[in-house]
Amino acid sequence: MSKSKPSQLIKEARDSGQSTFGENYVQELVDKAGEVEGVEWHFIGPLQSNKARQLLSVSSLAMLETVDREKIADRVDSLCEEMDHPNRPLPVLVQVNTSGEESKSGVEPGEEAVSLARHVHANCANLSFRGLMTIGHPQLEEAPTCFDKLVETRKEVASDLNLKESSLELSMGMSQDWGIALSKGATSIRIGSAIFGQR
Ligand SMILES: *Cc1c(COP(=O)(O)O)cnc(C)c1O
Repeated sequence: MSKSKPSQLIKEARDSGQSTFGENYVQELVDKAGEVEGVEWHFIGPLQSNKARQLLSVSSLAMLETVDREKIADRVDSLCEEMDHPNRPLPVLVQVNTSGEESKSGVEPGEEAVSLARHVHANCANLSFRGLMTIGHPQLEEAPTCFDKLVETRKEVASDLNLKESSLELSMGMSQDWGIALSKGATSIRIGSAIFGQR
């Protein structure tokens, strides 16, 4: 996660071998994508419909990790087609709120997540449903429970869609809890400050 860090630092990370970077503001991602070549971008933040076009103007956008409602899935789906995005069908994850905190985006674990995943999988031909993402909980001792919920939800989604569990990604774990996340089966961790320093 390279949010709030300058393009120069991202280039240094790229030159050391990091190839994928995450951002959570559309404008910041657009600006940096114009400055840093040879990398892929994941958008990982709340996405408003009126910013979706700007986001999809980035040809190196490789994944949207924060699909949290049908409306935004449908919007991005139709824009991918209309704008003929080079990574169409665009890989996406469904964001799940595993901590239950009001302040966090994401659908509830269980049926709500299954239903949104089913919608993307069945109705969004220009999106490629790849799995689930969660932020977890700021308190370390709550993290394992959150990650367990994501693992359990992936089971339910895989069974509903008739997919192999192992074919679906689990994006979970940040600087302070990535070790726990990996031990629970994370396929993708999102490290910000441990790489780039405090924000
Ligand atoms: C900032 C951010 C991270 C990385 O957080 P660090 O604690 O700096 O590693 C991971 N995921 C999301 C969604 C973020 O916004």
